[in-house]
Amino acid sequence: MKQSLIEQFSVLLGKQYVLIADEDKAPYLTDWRKRFTGKALAVLLPKTTEEVSAIVKLCGSSHIAIIPQGGNTGLCGGATPDNSGNQVILNLKRMNQIREIDAVNQTITLEAGCILQTIQENAAAKSYLFPLSLGAEGSCMIGGNLATNAGGTNVLRYGNTRDLCLGLEVVTAQGDIWNGLKGLRKDNTGYDLRDLFIGSEGTLGIITAAVMKLYPLPISQWTTLVATDSIVSAISLLNLFQKRAASLLTGFEMMTQESLALNEKHFPQMANPLKGNPPFTILIELSDHESEEHVRQLLEIILEEAFTANMISDAVIASNLSQANSFWHMREHITLAQAEEGANLKHDITIPLSSLDRFIKETDALMRQKYPGVRMINFGHLGDGNLHYNIAPPLGSDPKVFNQTHEKAIYELVFAQVEVCQGSISAEHGVGQLKVGDLRAHKGVIAHELMKTLKRALDPQNILNPNKVVSI
Ligand SMILES: Cc1cc2nc3c(=O)[nH]c(=O)nc-3n(C[C@H](O)[C@H](O)[C@H](O)COP(=O)(O)OP(=O)(O)OC[C@H]3O[C@@H](n4cnc5c(N)ncnc54)[C@H](O)[C@@H]3O)c2cc1C
Repeated sequence: MKQSLIEQFSVLLGKQYVLIADEDKAPYLTDWRKRFTGKALAVLLPKTTEEVSAIVKLCGSSHIAIIPQGGNTGLCGGATPDNSGNQVILNLKRMNQIREIDAVNQTITLEAGCILQTIQENAAAKSYLFPLSLGAEGSCMIGGNLATNAGGTNVLRYGNTRDLCLGLEVVTAQGDIWNGLKGLRKDNTGYDLRDLFIGSEGTLGIITAAVMKLYPLPISQWTTLVATDSIVSAISLLNLFQKRAASLLTGFEMMTQESLALNEKHFPQMANPLKGNPPFTILIELSDHESEEHVRQLLEIILEEAFTANMISDAVIASNLSQANSFWHMREHITLAQAEEGANLKHDITIPLSSLDRFIKETDALMRQKYPGVRMINFGHLGDGNLHYNIAPPLGSDPKVFNQTHEKAIYELVFAQVEVCQGSISAEHGVGQLKVGDLRAHKGVIAHELMKTLKRALDPQNILNPNKVVSI
């Protein structure tokens, strides 16, 4: 049966787009963090929506599950198959056409396999901003961004991927093609199907194309790094910038002393330009459509006010684009420095800003008490309350042994604290296979049951990314 299915895939896509040799499949079988490795009957590389539809129909009639995959940069193992060898990976990288840029509607219609950075570059070439931006933008794809409702560094001003999307084209679990590619900013015609598929991590449908919003390209951007001694000061600073700069504030990122020390250890060229590596370094970006001077003056006035109010103790304003980029690289390299350091326990959580100081103080204290020597490598998109609360094992201990022994208890401790503070256990990375049990435990019984009801209704055969997000 399997052989005949592979032959049918080959007739449909062409033999070279049906990968069955172990060495050809290998790059698609392990997630970015190397936490999960699976097996696959084949890796399928369709070029058109019709091919995706035909694959789903073939898989449905043979009860073969499909794992949708984009750039495979997800951090929760959502795009990795199980170990049965009975699932196929459907990678969308060949579906990489920009179908239309509509200058009047300020939208871009594109296929799921378009790489995020390519979209940004194409938009910029036409003087538009496509604001979604994250560390993996050189390889993640818009289908994956939509499926995970990715966040990134511009959420504060432009929202998550969900907020940037106006329409979708989706292949359903039955292989039907739903064309919802209308670029409408208002559409109250009943249930919002688009929002149902966004963030569903490939469990409800396969996103094949999307209409995304474009924005005018700012003419000037100023980036600064400032030093604060506490989270409370950092949040006061955020509130000050929100009040004075309003929508010109496009970035507000927090990096702790420990996270930047780790950066410097693995990437010495990423040293913090602020003197003495302060307890908290905040990266702030203002963007403007007026003159360079206007935003620069505004930045200086706000910084002066912050100095006077003792919110900050030091500041460096990037003097040119390359220095501004180096500030952002410093922020983006923390994830890479963590990967260099070895296995660590990551938590991508949101806490209401009013409870963030309490969360960090209480959770740090509990961690240190229970696991002496652990290192907290914290950073995040502070502007939207998103904290990457990461635990690195004590220096000198074997990371694998430490994680295996303590992972479950550490996750439980952090998530219990998140619940006390009314936060979310997954801010922007999703659930994948990593957090299925945690979602069951923390989503709330009714919400979790409703999610299972939706999954059963839309994918009764359970062939789309089974056992990811929810198990039915
Ligand atoms: C260095 C680094 C930095 C990162 N920074 C951020 C960050 O700041 N913010 C953030 O939100 N994330 C971040 N991520 C996580 C990751 O980049 C995002 O989740 C991204 O959106 C995943 O896109 P992808 O194309 O790689 O998807 P994949 O990893 O291939 O897939 C992710 C999930 O989406 C599903 N999927 C993929 N394509 C489709 C499709 N077309 N239709 C249906 N389902 C699909 C998969 O089955 C899987 O469940 C980062 C990752 C790395 C490695």
